[in-house]
Amino acid sequence: MRVILVERLTPGEQPSLNELEALVKTLNYEVVAKVQQFRPPDPAYQIGRGKVKELAALVKSNQAERVVFRNQLTPSQAYKLSRLVGVEVVDRFQIVLEIFAMRAGSPEAKLQIEYARLRYELPKIREQIKALLSVEQPGFRGGGEYEVNVRYDMVKRKLANLRRKLKSLEKTREERRKFRRKRGFKLVALAGYTNSGKSTLLNALTDARAEVDDMYFTTLMPRTRALKSSRMILLTDTVGFIDDLPPWLFEAFKATLEEIYMADLVVLLVDASDSVPEMIRKLRTSQKILAGYHVKTITALNKIDLITEEELKRKMEVLHSMTSTLVPISAARGTNLDALLESIRTNA
Ligand code: GDP
Ligand code: MG
Repeated sequence: MRVILVERLTPGEQPSLNELEALVKTLNYEVVAKVQQFRPPDPAYQIGRGKVKELAALVKSNQAERVVFRNQLTPSQAYKLSRLVGVEVVDRFQIVLEIFAMRAGSPEAKLQIEYARLRYELPKIREQIKALLSVEQPGFRGGGEYEVNVRYDMVKRKLANLRRKLKSLEKTREERRKFRRKRGFKLVALAGYTNSGKSTLLNALTDARAEVDDMYFTTLMPRTRALKSSRMILLTDTVGFIDDLPPWLFEAFKATLEEIYMADLVVLLVDASDSVPEMIRKLRTSQKILAGYHVKTITALNKIDLITEEELKRKMEVLHSMTSTLVPISAARGTNLDALLESIRTNA
């Protein structure tokens, strides 16, 4: 999918499309252009009207199939923008939802994400009804409004239905954890922000071809593999932590992280190339999220090949005061992975 990324910035704000770019790449999208504008938000379009025209031209010349805003869009803004630029316009939350949907393994996670998706969609449908009723499209009056109303009622009924199903599923999680323990495997989950190096580390410590030879794990957790060095220790990748999730998305996020519920140990990855304040902020947020899972955690400071020895020393000192077990590594270069494995074996 060819996409254009857009962000509107308040004057003085730092441009920050990096995270959004990493997110859309998780979905295998190709970024064909980026648009940034400094201005206060426009109530109708988020960006300025002139910029919308520019965006429409960019969509055409780049044959983009979708436009993704870093800023949250109101349903009305998304609707109006889509009509003007000619392709679907979505915001970061829609992308996050799609990543969760891709990663959801268990029936419960799938339901949670479906629930969040419908809640995201509901106000958009309301906006469609409003637009159909407005004088903007006199041709659509009548029939169209009825269809959209039917769709609106259907989504509302589905939401009520999902709430009931989710309630009945709450218990199965603990049962699954017990079931796995009986089989004698240890499960280690990799956690951390998007781009911290989880997938790279998974590849470094496991054999790509040696998927776990057990139906239970391959169906429930497709990104789970046995360690090269200890076949009874399974390593699993998880969806990356994401900043600024609204409450309605947070439940879906937690469900997507359910490998962590089942894990004996979490290896939390921290990106050493982040600035110290950014590193501290991300580590604190990660620790807060993980606290809800009551699982033992060790921290790996990754990408140490990108910083000087001085910097490493300083960052290790800062992190030492915030974590119990800390191992500096480079997943990409394979540096110090033996020490990490040793720590995994003793803690799992
Ligand atoms: P994930 O989002 O946490 O799964 O992160 P990835 O494993 O996809 O890595 C994100 C980016 O960081 C990729 O471009 C990796 O090549 C890079 N990366 C991962 N580990 C290291 C490392 O130890 N050193 C360096 N220099 N880059 C790394
Ligand atoms: Mg990854």
